[in-house]
Amino acid sequence: VAEASFQLPFIKGWCPTVFEPMTASDGLLASLKPRVKGWTPAELRLIASEAQRHGSGALLLTNRANLQVRGLTAESAPRFAAAVANAALASADANAERRRNILTDASMAPELEALASQLENWLERETTLAALPPKFLFAVTAVERQLADICILAAGTQWYVIPDNADLAVQADEPLAAVALLTQAFIRLASEGQRMRDLIAEVGCEVLFREAGLKAVAFAPQTRIQPTSDVGVLDPQRFAIGVPFGRLDATRLLAIADLAARFAKGRVRLSAHRSFVITSLKADVIEALSAHAQEHGFIINAEDSRLRIAACSGGSGCGNSVVSMFALAESLAPFWRGQSTLHLSGCAKGCAHPRAAALTCVAEPTSNRFHILKNSRADGRSAFSLSAAELPQFLAQESLS
Ligand code: SF4
Repeated sequence: VAEASFQLPFIKGWCPTVFEPMTASDGLLASLKPRVKGWTPAELRLIASEAQRHGSGALLLTNRANLQVRGLTAESAPRFAAAVANAALASADANAERRRNILTDASMAPELEALASQLENWLERETTLAALPPKFLFAVTAVERQLADICILAAGTQWYVIPDNADLAVQADEPLAAVALLTQAFIRLASEGQRMRDLIAEVGCEVLFREAGLKAVAFAPQTRIQPTSDVGVLDPQRFAIGVPFGRLDATRLLAIADLAARFAKGRVRLSAHRSFVITSLKADVIEALSAHAQEHGFIINAEDSRLRIAACSGGSGCGNSVVSMFALAESLAPFWRGQSTLHLSGCAKGCAHPRAAALTCVAEPTSNRFHILKNSRADGRSAFSLSAAELPQFLAQESLS
């Protein structure tokens, strides 16, 4: 891959890819998007080695099931991009890579994987989609409606195609055809910077379906505030390993590769719940796999409260907050016993959890106080604030309410 295809925008808030890294406090960060089929242990080792060679070795799993590679420099970031693109771990073309935003179920049936792969191929080759916003996200799922711009949901023998924020859906035998029509209609109707939910809030979903030439059926909207704690044994073939707050390094990524090579015969997927899903397990490996995963500091118990805390990289990884959010999350985890999501955000942008959470604590820019919000996004209105010292007792009380 020619380094000429590499761009360095240095724009805060940019949605990064490997070709378009973003500036952060700890250097440039590139977001590596897994292919639908996942990564082999050998590919994980290559990623770990290139992240160590070209970056700081710090990595972060995101809520879009991407892997951030951090601590790159203006010189090393193009070399990292070339290394992963040459190994076919990213699209060869920077524009195609920007469009390739697909969220899938961690435990995906073969027919869903086939459909998601077709969607991936379409996004990579369809240059008429250049006008899509960089964060425009597609989801393919059989579990529950995902908060993506366009979600393909398999429900029994039916396929539904559901735009974000819509209470109507297309029931389709050929879901990708409906996805293409809805996407093109979105491009014609949306103004610059709008996502699907903004467009539907402005014009209503009937306008979108009419523009797409599609007949819609009623579909109850769902907002996912309750997290799914998908770690440990998912089924006899799959085991999910949780990463506390998504934070790891190249050494621990190598550990994941070793576990997958030793205890399974398949690929490794990322989930939006900040976990690695090891597929095609060998027989009778659960006990040993669990023990080794725990030795490396990973989460295998669905009751672990860290699975229900979303924290951003504020402090060491983002200059928008003076508070080290990961350290705060680790210290508060013993006090959060609720089954719903606690969102600790370094500022109102809410990177770690862009939607509503049961409880959100947003750091003030210059003091050690936090705005408290209930059932809200980080940019909502807060009724009161607490100091860092007051948070543990408050969280313990809230967990019980
Ligand atoms: S939410 Fe956190 S990571 Fe995002 S901009 Fe604010 S401080 Fe930075």
